[in-house]
Amino acid sequence: MKPKLIVHGGAWNIPDEQVAAHLNGIEHSITKTFEALEKGLSALDAVELAINHLELDPTYDAGKGAFLNKAGEIELDAIIMDGLSLNFGAVACVQNIFHPVSLARQVMDNTEHAFLAGKGAQQFAIDQGFEILDPKQLLTERELVFFDKIKEDPEFMTHHPFRDSPSDTVGAVAMDINGNLAVATSTGGTPRKLPGRVGDSPIIGAGAYADNSIGAASTTGWGESIMKVLLAKTVCDLFEHNSAGDAARIGIAKLQQKVGGLGGVIGINSNGEYAYAHNTPRMAFAYVTSSGQVISKIKITP
Ligand code: ASP
Repeated sequence: MKPKLIVHGGAWNIPDEQVAAHLNGIEHSITKTFEALEKGLSALDAVELAINHLELDPTYDAGKGAFLNKAGEIELDAIIMDGLSLNFGAVACVQNIFHPVSLARQVMDNTEHAFLAGKGAQQFAIDQGFEILDPKQLLTERELVFFDKIKEDPEFMTHHPFRDSPSDTVGAVAMDINGNLAVATSTGGTPRKLPGRVGDSPIIGAGAYADNSIGAASTTGWGESIMKVLLAKTVCDLFEHNSAGDAARIGIAKLQQKVGGLGGVIGINSNGEYAYAHNTPRMAFAYVTSSGQVISKIKITP
C-alpha cells in the first residue's frame, strides 16, 4: 500500500523571519524520508529518520538549536513508539547529543525499560556509543541572544500564545507499505525552563501515541497543559468514531476548554487519513498526498 508521512516543526507564534527556514526544514525531512518509505523502510525507522533530519537542523528546538534552560544549558527530551507492538522508548533531560530520538529508540530496542531520564539516560548514551558533544555544538547564536533577552524578563511567560518562538519542537507520524504506524517527537522543551523540567513530549500518550488499530499522533505546544489531557492518546481515541480531521480538532478543543491549553497535533488514522489542528497562532507541518506531492503549511485558521 501507499505509505503516509506527516511531520511538524512546532506550534506557537513562529516569527515571520523564521517561516522560510521552518518550511524548508520540514520539506527536506519529509522528502528524504518519504523516498525511503516508498522503498520499504518501516514506519518506525521512518519516524526516527525524519526526526534525525530535524534534530540536525538548527531551525528547530530539537537537537541543535534547542532552547536554553534557566541555567543556560540544553536538556533534551524525546520519544518513539511502534503502533504494531505498542513498544515505546523515551528519554528526558539528556545533554550533549544530536539525536535524543535515536537514544529513545535504543532504550526501546536494547533495554528491558521504556523510559530513562537524567544521569542514567546520559550514561546510557555513553554506553551505546553516542557521540558526546561539546555543549557549544548544540548551541546557536539565535538561542543565546534569545536567552539573554528573556533571562531576567519578569514579563516572559512560557505559555503566552503570542510569544515569538524562534525555534520549536519536532514530530513525525508514518504509515509504511505494510500499513504499520509509528510516531516520534523530539524537543529541547520550553525556553528558560527550570533544570530537570520535563514536558509532554517524551510522555507516552501526551507527546506521542501510536496503535495500528486506531492511529498515531504527535503533539507540540505548552507541555504542562498537553500532559493534563494526554493529547496524543486523546486524539488517537477520537480516531475511532470521528474523521481524522475532526479527531484532531476535537482534541485541540478539549485541550483549550478543559485546561486552557495551547498546542498543536498531527496524526494519521488507521485508514491512512491525515489529521492536523492547532490553537496556537501558527504551526509548521508538512505531509505527502496520495499522488506523492509534498504539502507544507505554516498557518491554518484554527
Ligand atoms: N511541548 C514542548 C514542551 O512543553 C514544547 C513545544 O512543543 O513547543 O516541552
